[in-house]
Amino acid sequence: MSDAIRLDGADLARTLREELTGKVSVLNERYGRAPALSVILVGEDPASEVYVRNKHAACAKVGIRSEIIRRSADISAEDLRELIVRVNEAVDVDGLLVQLPLPAHIDPAQVRSWIDPHKDVDGLHPENVGLLASDQPRFVPCTPLGCLRMLEHYEIPTEGRLAVVLGRSLIVGRPMATLLSARSVNCTVTLCHSRSRDLPRICADADILIAAAGQPQLVEEDWIRPGAAVIDVGIHRIQDLSHPKGHRLVGDVHPNAERVAGFLSPVPGGVGPMTIAMLLENTVRAFQLQKGVQEAVV
Ligand code: NDP
Repeated sequence: MSDAIRLDGADLARTLREELTGKVSVLNERYGRAPALSVILVGEDPASEVYVRNKHAACAKVGIRSEIIRRSADISAEDLRELIVRVNEAVDVDGLLVQLPLPAHIDPAQVRSWIDPHKDVDGLHPENVGLLASDQPRFVPCTPLGCLRMLEHYEIPTEGRLAVVLGRSLIVGRPMATLLSARSVNCTVTLCHSRSRDLPRICADADILIAAAGQPQLVEEDWIRPGAAVIDVGIHRIQDLSHPKGHRLVGDVHPNAERVAGFLSPVPGGVGPMTIAMLLENTVRAFQLQKGVQEAVV
């Protein structure tokens, strides 16, 4: 039985890419070059390889120029900093991201602070974190921004509604909670983490539930208020010998949630494609900001 309306991130991302294609073409004509993104990939993590290739392909689809700069896992922190500074100074590059995770000897907090905050399309530089927290967002991290766009697109009411966010990471949970409590969104927000008590009860009150705990199929149907909007951010590869590939992808939400939720984003095909679409949007935004064009983010 499937009652929940599917929050089809793949389809929405396609629509957004079409819009961006037109925008990129206009910018290219007006300014004589297309927006450009540099992605630094350190080491050979297979999942990062796939993510970076997908980002590169998505850029090409909308006309954004992109380059992948590869460095081996034994690069020193100083050499990585020098590389970042070089890209920061490149006048024909608008957006820069360093793919995570990084090797253990490199501190991701330092790396975030080395990136020029005006090129920080992942929205993780302390300056951009602060701007979002003070309701003046410049770059918002791509995954929570993608979740918000889905809520907007499916006209899910947020004003005065209770939103529960599972997870407090810098990249998903915290910015998600901040966005949902922004003056333009107006949710009442509860932010949960691994030490939160009585999660099922807290979640059962939520009008909007964002599951980003990184725990496969944690959220069961009896955690969900009937009719709630549930966005499943988690991505996990689990073994499934009945599947041709021997594995399949699941989220943080159990499939039985479909029976109770009013709206549910699938995994795959929900938040994943929206995350990449928001990276494209942020790159165009970086280009526009550099040219003095300001547009509201939320
Ligand atoms: P992190 O591991 O950085 O953070 C997980 C958060 O969840 C932490 O705050 C942790 O709490 C909390 N948590 C862990 N277990 C529980 C629990 N049982 N109940 C409540 N909270 C819990 O993960 P990310 O935020 O980077 O990613 C979360 C998930 O989203 C992952 O599955 C990841 O793969 C996926 N993801 C998907 C993306 C997409 O594009 N679709 C993009 C980014 C991430 P504490 O702080 O106490 O440790």
